Amino acid sequence: MREMPVPARFIVRNPSVTPKLRYVLWLCLCALLLVPALAQDPTPQPTAEADLTATPDPVTLITTRPTARQTIAGARASLEILFERLPQGGAGVVSVAGEGVTAASARFLNRNIPFFEARDDGYWYGLLTANIEQSARTYDLEVGVTFEDGQTETLLAQIDVASGGFITSSFTVPDDRLALIDPEVERVEFARLAAVFDHRSMVRGWDDTGFDLPLASELTAPFGEVRVLNDTVQTRHTGWDLRATVGVPIMASAGGTVAFAGLMDIRGNYVVIDHGHGVFTGYAHLSQIHVTRGQTITQGQILGVTGDTGRSSGPHLHWEMNINGDWVNVADVSRMWLP
Ligand SMILES: [Zn+2]
Repeated sequence: MREMPVPARFIVRNPSVTPKLRYVLWLCLCALLLVPALAQDPTPQPTAEADLTATPDPVTLITTRPTARQTIAGARASLEILFERLPQGGAGVVSVAGEGVTAASARFLNRNIPFFEARDDGYWYGLLTANIEQSARTYDLEVGVTFEDGQTETLLAQIDVASGGFITSSFTVPDDRLALIDPEVERVEFARLAAVFDHRSMVRGWDDTGFDLPLASELTAPFGEVRVLNDTVQTRHTGWDLRATVGVPIMASAGGTVAFAGLMDIRGNYVVIDHGHGVFTGYAHLSQIHVTRGQTITQGQILGVTGDTGRSSGPHLHWEMNINGDWVNVADVSRMWLP
């Protein structure tokens, strides 16, 4: 009987680079130069090794509300920014508090972001995101607050968008899947996805434990990687890859509703969960799907099993997150405090 993976926060890696690890990394690099990768979303390669050691220690999951890095006090309400800066493809939490607040919403990077009350702590929360392609500089944040007497107040702040520090890799797609590197295929798929992300629940699907890994395995190919396919087409890696063989059950990272369950050209058999307030997770290249659209899902519920469908050259799980229409680093968001 197959051993079922248990919901795991993250496989812990030692972030310090020892001489031995450096030697292993060198070996990996040499191996990479000799063995060219075969496809756009390949079997996890050791390329990400060095990059992963730079990611935050997964065990230091933040479980209490961070202190504000910026506070903007208005006449009746105050705005708190709970992060230092927003990396490209990153997400951050902002909050509003004040006597008699009945609604709040942000205007940031040409998006309207409605705030929500998630906890009994007197705050209204908003999730800001920076697109993966957003230029790294300072941008205006405008937050509109409505009070029970019908009055409104506008609070202004500035948000720094920082470089995502993404790596670039080259891939050769084999002849039998060449049709899938056509930019038009990707454009059509993104349009289908945008339609899925357009309908969002306003019920928070995640709990205080946030988002979990969908299977107990290693994160390999990193989010945001620029992928040059056959020296011509350039694309972005919108999620993280997890090492897996075919047929491993994958679990919902958090609760929600199935927003999509079916076949896509690049993602293959694909499941999207709507977690509420504009947050979605996606699970790609599955061999089997065990859920249907509209179904209510709890954290850890099995959505399907891993496979090698779509633009993939070997079995693995592609795990991704979209917030407010932006692809964000799902591994980073899974580690951060969420309202
Ligand atoms: Zn992937």
